[in-house]
Amino acid sequence: MLATMRYSKFFIPTLRDDPADAEVISHKLLLRAGYIRRVTSGVYDYLPLAVRVLRKIEAVVRDEMNRAGAQELQMPMVQPGELWEKSERMEKYGPELLRFKDRHGHESCLGPTHEEVICDLVSRELRSYKQLPMNLYQIQNKFRDEIRPRFGLMRGREFIMKDAYSFHADEDCLAAEYKNMFDAYCRIFTRFGLKFRPVEADTGSIGGSDSHEFHVLADSGEDLIAHCGACEYAANVEKAVSNRQTVAVEQAELKMVDTPVVTSAEDVAGFLSVDIALLVKTMVYRIIGGEHDGVIVAACVRGDDQVQEIKLAHAVGADSVELATDAEITEIGGVTGFVGPQNLLSRVLLDHSLQGATGLVAGANRKDAHITGLDTARDITSGEFFDLRQTRAGDTCAKCGGNIELSRGIEVGQVFALGTRYTEPMEVLFQNQQGQRSVATMGCYGIGVSRLMAAIVEQCNDAAGISWPLTLAPFSVGLISMGKSGAVLEASEAIYHQLKGAGIDVLWDDRKERPGVKFKDFELIGLPLQVVVGDRGLNDGQVEMGWRKNERRSVPVADIVSVVLSELQSSELQSVETGN
Ligand code: ATP
Ligand code: MG
Repeated sequence: MLATMRYSKFFIPTLRDDPADAEVISHKLLLRAGYIRRVTSGVYDYLPLAVRVLRKIEAVVRDEMNRAGAQELQMPMVQPGELWEKSERMEKYGPELLRFKDRHGHESCLGPTHEEVICDLVSRELRSYKQLPMNLYQIQNKFRDEIRPRFGLMRGREFIMKDAYSFHADEDCLAAEYKNMFDAYCRIFTRFGLKFRPVEADTGSIGGSDSHEFHVLADSGEDLIAHCGACEYAANVEKAVSNRQTVAVEQAELKMVDTPVVTSAEDVAGFLSVDIALLVKTMVYRIIGGEHDGVIVAACVRGDDQVQEIKLAHAVGADSVELATDAEITEIGGVTGFVGPQNLLSRVLLDHSLQGATGLVAGANRKDAHITGLDTARDITSGEFFDLRQTRAGDTCAKCGGNIELSRGIEVGQVFALGTRYTEPMEVLFQNQQGQRSVATMGCYGIGVSRLMAAIVEQCNDAAGISWPLTLAPFSVGLISMGKSGAVLEASEAIYHQLKGAGIDVLWDDRKERPGVKFKDFELIGLPLQVVVGDRGLNDGQVEMGWRKNERRSVPVADIVSVVLSELQSSELQSVETGN
């Protein structure tokens, strides 16, 4: 009996109502439809339905990775601390790296990523350029002690990742493999029928030179993506560059004006009746990490712009930046709410859009006061100019002058050209064609497999539940027995075995529930095709068949297998043709 996938025996703990603590649709639906359960913050059980979907996602990922010439291996989740010391990431990676000591007192950690372990392996086995290039990958659980795990599988602490690492004799070979992986990722996300976009990306804590992220477009996405309406340019706002319209004004004298209690750029602009773009927004930050750890700096953008903190961190050589406290603002001669770039004791970084600007309004570094007529070239002699602002919708594209649009995305993958960031400290060396010892170059390529499952649900759902693409559904067909007559159950079981015999994934609903309950459950869990067996139809030798939420039609019992097969095949063909 175990071989039969009967709903009555299958572990699908559905919930009647939306779980209260779930904010995004995928989290709600995966909980409600019995795919996942929370164990502790950011850690989930994947129940049998989820495992079936994950295996199908993984199968496509494996297929394309193997096709691209990568080889699968499996590395451990527990990693020795020494390797992280050697790569100089023990400190740098920060508290997301879960560290512990084993019983012998050895520093260890749970792998959030595997550059260290793979470099260690390859450094011990690599001798000659003849062994290169190579690309090794695994699909495995990662652990990152995220500060704010949320949205269910989207940002977990323990999650499933496909991670690949390639090694090369030179930069050109790395560039070719980067392109090869980029193309493989495009094929993978196309096969899932997703609306996605590859974008230029910041390299973050991983390091390296070139990087792209792959985003599934969804309003619930945590990332903002800037893309040009006219050309191919697309980038994460952490990295995006664009031009903005500037406001031309006459040069004027510096004047101090009273601005009692108004502090925000909007309020000051309103109070003084000036264009908000003429305001200088001055934000004070503390540098985290790097040579200047703990140093306070000021960053200025126009009043209607935001400081992009990742750009600022790069500008000052920091790992990250954090807003300064009131006391720290006082330390550099500022007054909270009235900070301006003039006469500060700290470094002052200004966005390019303020270069050569005149007639600006800025905080006076005095309580309840601002200055007007500010000219950055004339009045802020120690100012340094960088790209610090976050790209906005309506900016002009730096490449072609087209209109920049913003959309939200879920990062489901990222590729990095790392160069020698890891291979040098980890001593991944080989003998080159000229017989000299040389450092290998490296790339790494990740896909968030469990996040991808959530991202697919974000794009494939409706009011009734999940509508899985056929290629990823836990079962292609839901076989529903209506009523409890022996004839219905007997006919259903026979059809079940015939469908299985034809290689079709079927879940048979043999429960003694009302038809309405069964249809609701099937719509919720999201199986694409339904076959319904009832007394009335059987009397005429017929069963019904239809796609989820579509009209059903009668099919003779004798033909059901061939009709289901041809429906599934034509749907698969269609999805290949349309990419949906
Ligand atoms: P994020 O910016 O979302 O924190 P990341 O850039 O740090 O992610 P990578 O190191 O690029 O992540 O990891 C590769 C992939 O693993 C990501 O593209 C993402 O799909 C997935 N991933 C990363 N962190 C998580 C997480 N906390 N939960 C689920 N998936 C994750
Ligand atoms: Mg990433």
